[in-house]
Amino acid sequence: MTDAAAAPAVSEKAPAWRRATLVAERRENASARTLVFDVPGWPGHLPGQHVDVRLTADDGYQATRSYSVAAPARGDRVELTVQRVADGEVSPYLVDDLPIGADVELLGPVGGWFVRRPGAPEPAILIGGGSGIVPLRAMLLTQVHGSASLRVLYSLRSPAELYFAADLTAAPDGLDREVFLAYTRRAPDGDPRPPARLTAADLAEHGLPASLAPAVYVCGPTGFVEAVTGLLLHAGHDPSKIRTERFGPSGG
Ligand SMILES: Cc1cc2nc3c(=O)[nH]c(=O)nc-3n(C[C@H](O)[C@H](O)[C@H](O)COP(=O)(O)OP(=O)(O)OC[C@H]3O[C@@H](n4cnc5c(N)ncnc54)[C@H](O)[C@@H]3O)c2cc1C
Repeated sequence: MTDAAAAPAVSEKAPAWRRATLVAERRENASARTLVFDVPGWPGHLPGQHVDVRLTADDGYQATRSYSVAAPARGDRVELTVQRVADGEVSPYLVDDLPIGADVELLGPVGGWFVRRPGAPEPAILIGGGSGIVPLRAMLLTQVHGSASLRVLYSLRSPAELYFAADLTAAPDGLDREVFLAYTRRAPDGDPRPPARLTAADLAEHGLPASLAPAVYVCGPTGFVEAVTGLLLHAGHDPSKIRTERFGPSGG
């Protein structure tokens, strides 16, 4: 079992811009790519934190966007997973064009509220919509034998849009963990649940009861976060235990 003392040290200093070199990549699906950066001097981060990525064109034009860390801290490595937004300025470049060996600038880690420390003692429900699963995956990967219960509810349109298949569909192997995939438009053949947005019944069946006072993390598009928060409050969850992150437009 990990404990807070074993968690990676995170700098209390203001985050600084650093050079980040793309050293590895992984396709999650047709519209999402995981990018692994080497960031010399990286101070570490906590699951749930994000970074700002800054791109500079040859003519000096700059664009900055926020991306959540997709994996726990591991030395100078920072892993991000980006979904291509149609007509977007930055995400299509990161998903389709940034070559291995290229440099970007990275500011972080940022954020101190939407975080789950490795070894946190309280059970947790992690609820993600679309690319909102990214910071939740970093939280999931810190779970070890003997640590608190985790329930993951992941809302996605179809099997083709699944991220992190290996992590999310792996047998729990003794971990107190369940992952529920809620398909909204097309479910795999044989799935008994007709495609639908996440419901109160899904939450009751696959989450944890409010009586256990779990920490709840909700991440995704604004409409998703608001709808799920409404369901949680209706189910009696303590508002002070619900942490949300909205993946709306960011940067400039
Ligand atoms: C704290 C935080 C963490 C984030 N983490 C991630 C992450 O881990 N992975 C990830 O893929 N994205 C993440 N995002 C979203 C990301 O910052 C960008 O908004 C996204 O990549 C789109 O940027 P773009 O330059 O391609 O689009 P833009 O050029 O900024 O926008 C193009 C059009 O798409 C709309 N749009 C912008 N962003 C979104 C969006 N997220 N969903 C739908 N429509 C959008 C805009 O309104 C506009 O109409 C995060 C956002 C925040 C605030």
